[in-house]
Order: sequence, then C-alpha cells, then structure tokens
Amino acid sequence: MRRRFIAGNWKMFNGPAATSEFMSSFVSKLTASEDIISNIDEGKMEVAVFAPFISLDTAVKCKNDSPLIIGAQNMHWEKSGAFTGEVSGEMLKELGCTHVIIGHSERRHIFHETSEDLHKKLQSAIQESLISVFCVGELLQDRESGSTFDVIREQLMAGLKAMDGKDVAEKIIVAYEPVWAIGTGKTASSEDAQEVCAFIRKLLADTFGEGVSEKTILLYGGSVKPENTASILAMKDIDGVLVGGASLKPDSFLAITKAAVR
Ligand code: PEP
Repeated sequence: MRRRFIAGNWKMFNGPAATSEFMSSFVSKLTASEDIISNIDEGKMEVAVFAPFISLDTAVKCKNDSPLIIGAQNMHWEKSGAFTGEVSGEMLKELGCTHVIIGHSERRHIFHETSEDLHKKLQSAIQESLISVFCVGELLQDRESGSTFDVIREQLMAGLKAMDGKDVAEKIIVAYEPVWAIGTGKTASSEDAQEVCAFIRKLLADTFGEGVSEKTILLYGGSVKPENTASILAMKDIDGVLVGGASLKPDSFLAITKAAVR
C-alpha cells in the first residue's frame, strides 16, 4: 500500500513570525491527534509544509521532534555559484529540509522555468537526497482544446528523462495540478483528477516498469479543502494532496490531514 502524502504549499505567505505562530498551533494539534500520529508511525501517511525560503529555518526549529516534514518551494540545480537570488539543494539540506517542490505551475508560467530547467533541478535534488514534489498540469486552454494528456506527457517525460526507475519511485512524488484549478476555487472533479493520475501511472509503467509505477506517490492539487479531501483520496491512483490556500491556517490543514487518516 502506498503511503498518503499531505502537503501544504504556502507560496509567498507566512514569513518567520507567522510561521512560528502556525507551527506552535499546528504541531501541538498534530502531535495530540492519535489517529494521525499512529498513521505516520505505521508508515501510512506523511505530512509536510513547504515554506518560503526565509521561513524554513523557523519551521525546522519549531517542528521540534514532531514528524512534520519541512520542505522548500524551489531550488537551483547548482550547488553554489554566481546565481544571485537563488538557493541550492545543498543549502536546503544544511537547513534541515528533506523535500522540495519542483515545477509548480507558478514557477513554470510566471517565472518561465522550462522543462529542461526542471529536469536539472530534479536531478540535482536526487543527488542531494532531497525528495521532490514534481508538479505537472495543463492550462484551461489545453483542457478545452483536448490536449491535456499531451501536455502532461510532455511535462512528465521531459522532467524524468533518462532517470533511474528506483530514483523515480523513491525520490520523486508527482503532483497533478490543473492550472485552472489552482487558487480559483474550481476543483477538478475527483473522476477527472483520477483519469489524469491513472494516465500518469500508466506513463510511468510504460517508461520505468510496473514496479516503479506502483510505488510512485501521486498527488492532486487545486482548490483542495477539508470538505473535498476524502472524495479526492478515495480515487484509486491519488495518494495525497498538495494544498495551497487551505494549508495556511492550522485548523483547515489539520482537518485535511484528518480526512486522510486510514
Ligand atoms: C498550490 O499552490 O499548489 C495549490 C494547489 O493552491 P490552491 O490549493 O490554493 O488551489
């Protein structure tokens, strides 16, 4: 059975003070939730927050010895160098991060990160032993013109090109995030999300083999809320959720996490 992965992407919200406030509330509620903690202890679930760079140190310190995972929202592919404004995977690891989001649609579309950039970032994260949450997803115009599957195939295959199957299964979590559903309040129906996740799993099987495909964790993201989490997670190929807006408040993120308990 694949583990569930419940992830909060804070985007450019929660500076250090707000992070400290979030953590003191969320971590105490998380550790007091016996059902969540026993799911985590039994390897059935993981819970993560992806904080802005400037808040990562606070997040790592405030999580204490709780099992909450702290990750970053981006990284550069080089270890160090003349890349003003960038942060490397090696630096994230030094800070205590274990995970990183790669290829969020806001990075692809606002900051024009290319598939080649994302491939280099994924490779670098693997070298640093960071787990990547690799995002793929179509624009509304892609969906309307019937090219959703072509877009997903291109993004997935370009990102994972020539990778070792074991690395894909163990170090990459794939998040399907239809761009039209991010921050818009429009959720893809559970069936639509399942259809694309099944397509991703099939692509992984065709490329890396059944074993890799069956082990790889797939997430859905796009206007996930406490109310729709259970129906999304009931889908066969969806193992978790990547949550933006609803992860910013401890109570709503905890409610989403509770809805994921098995
Ligand atoms: C996201 O930031 O990845 C996301 C899915 O945002 P939201 O949940 O707010 O749609």
